[in-house]
Amino acid sequence: MDSNREIERQRMVDQYIIPSGVKDPDVIATMRRVPRHRFVPALYSIFAYIDGPLPIGYSQTISQPSLVASMTEALALKKTDKVLEIGTGSGYQAAILAELVDKVLTIEIVEPLAREAAQTLAELGYKNVRVRAGDGYKGWPEEAPFNAIIVTAAPEQVPQALLDQLAVGGRLILPVGRDIQTLDLYHRTAEGYQRKTLTFVRFVPLVHPEK
Ligand code: SAH
Repeated sequence: MDSNREIERQRMVDQYIIPSGVKDPDVIATMRRVPRHRFVPALYSIFAYIDGPLPIGYSQTISQPSLVASMTEALALKKTDKVLEIGTGSGYQAAILAELVDKVLTIEIVEPLAREAAQTLAELGYKNVRVRAGDGYKGWPEEAPFNAIIVTAAPEQVPQALLDQLAVGGRLILPVGRDIQTLDLYHRTAEGYQRKTLTFVRFVPLVHPEK
């Protein structure tokens, strides 16, 4: 029942999220609140509060919770930020973002996943998330600039369009590479871009249909 989910979720935060090194109190509080079990297929919902990725259909996965938390923390979000996510998947990462900022836009290339994620987010009452079905490789130019962009699938190189769509002062986090991927954080300054590699990760590839 829901109270068990609540207990499991608090345990996930205490046993995995905090020990993974996440410190931002707002991110931690958000991980305590968002019901991850609602974003995974019913078959796997008993595993929702273990710190691992899970299948969501269409050969895609919902990311590992500690990685969701640390990528979110790295974006150093402010409430007034407008955030773009590429790779909606289940919608879980979008929900975490929606708790922290005023406006979230998210793009998913697998149409049924986009539809299901939009439905889950609506059921849970998130009104500040827009889900779009389509290719996110080129970002969402009509809505740019963004204060933060998070990519949850790995391109082989950083897409120039995403760098272009960052506001000055904005942050972009994404996995880059084919087999071995680095998790890179870009910061746009008045002069250009600063890049920092945070760790190694393994994400599904970012599909780039026009290549
Ligand atoms: N953030 C998700 C996990 C996403 S897995 C969550 O919280 O559940 C990565 C997702 O990126 C997959 O659903 C995949 O279909 C999507 N994807 C891959 N290439 C894409 C592209 N070019 N544009 C938009 N989405 C893409």
